[in-house]
Amino acid sequence: MLAVADALEIVLAKCRPLPPLDMPLATALGSILAEDVASDLDMPPFDKALMDGYAVRCQDLVDGTTTLPVQAEVSAGQSGPPLMPGQAIRIMTGAPIPAGADAVIRVEDTKMAAHRVEIHAKPPKPGQFILTKGREMKRGDVVLTAGAVLRPQEIGLLATVGRSNVKVIPPPTVAVLATGDELVEANQMPGPSQLRNSNGPMLTAQAARAGAIPRYLGIGRDDAVLLRALVAEALNSSIVVMSGGVSAGRKDLVPDVLKDLGVEPHFHQIAMKPGKPLFFGTRGDTLVFGLPGNPVSSFCGFELFVRPAIRKMAGHAIPGPVWQDATLAETFSHSSDRPTYHPAVVENREGSNRVRTVRWFGSPDLRAMAQANALMLLPAGSYSFTAGQKMPVLASVEA
Ligand code: AMP
Ligand code: MG
Repeated sequence: MLAVADALEIVLAKCRPLPPLDMPLATALGSILAEDVASDLDMPPFDKALMDGYAVRCQDLVDGTTTLPVQAEVSAGQSGPPLMPGQAIRIMTGAPIPAGADAVIRVEDTKMAAHRVEIHAKPPKPGQFILTKGREMKRGDVVLTAGAVLRPQEIGLLATVGRSNVKVIPPPTVAVLATGDELVEANQMPGPSQLRNSNGPMLTAQAARAGAIPRYLGIGRDDAVLLRALVAEALNSSIVVMSGGVSAGRKDLVPDVLKDLGVEPHFHQIAMKPGKPLFFGTRGDTLVFGLPGNPVSSFCGFELFVRPAIRKMAGHAIPGPVWQDATLAETFSHSSDRPTYHPAVVENREGSNRVRTVRWFGSPDLRAMAQANALMLLPAGSYSFTAGQKMPVLASVEA
């Protein structure tokens, strides 16, 4: 049976980053920049006061107390007159330094008395509390390069250099489709043999959290004709995520319907728990995932394969999943024929991660997942794990 790492390699090899798009800054958060961006001006554009205080000439100050007449006042957004020798100009943070001034004295080091200022500070070095023109960046400097992740600080920097639109790799669209005759939506009371569709809303939320644009298409019934129509519609997306109907039951129609629609299968089973039946195929550049219907299986399948695919298509250099080490907080034993992704809680204590398992009844038990903030990987076989040993954990299921 295919190992998780090999399956992920197959998935990532099929991901084509989407073509760049011009996007308003307001919607670019989390995207990958697809162009180099240069500044259109010097920053700051003028010598700028870094403190509220008085603009002075250093040579006019003496050791001890200096008293100078206050010639004018200048605030941010204004420009003051040139500073006359032997005088001071009251200046506010962010205001341009008047011509002739070469330092700012903090207001805390002064006392005002009848249009004169007493300065109780040693003569400063020229340049004190002044940010000189072009110190942060010069016009034409490349301030961000293609490949940068647009976090809030990059968004601010782009605005600084005059960009209200930028070229980015757009987020992929993800169609989410639940399948099963037994399913009803959350606003309905299930009948005796029905249950509520948890996976539709959950996978839609996982897609959004991974940075994609989800399209929830509802519940597909276990009927080849109806399912085919819904899947055909879903195939207009970058990625299709289906849940249920992928194992070997008589009503598990997903693989055949996909084949019918020209989806080329790449794998159908993975050596993992929960969620051994997991279909992956492609049609053109569209990826299709058929996740097992049990909610925790669907959840894990998404985090292990769909999220990395979304990130790779969105241009991220590290698609993940990113595993970390955590110190096991408790001794326990576990036995399984397949590597197991176990709901767990990771806590950071004094800078190091400690992990413990959450009580879990298996793949339908979504309540355990709600108490967890991580998945802990347990190898196949029968093992006793001892408190203190290092375990691999996937903490990206948090946040
Ligand atoms: P399947 O993979 O279709 O054989 O489904 C496996 C189990 O998961 C069955 O008990 C289903 O009722 C359940 N299941 C399937 N789809 C969903 C869903 N969208 N939400 C909650 N449970 C589901
Ligand atoms: Mg089913």
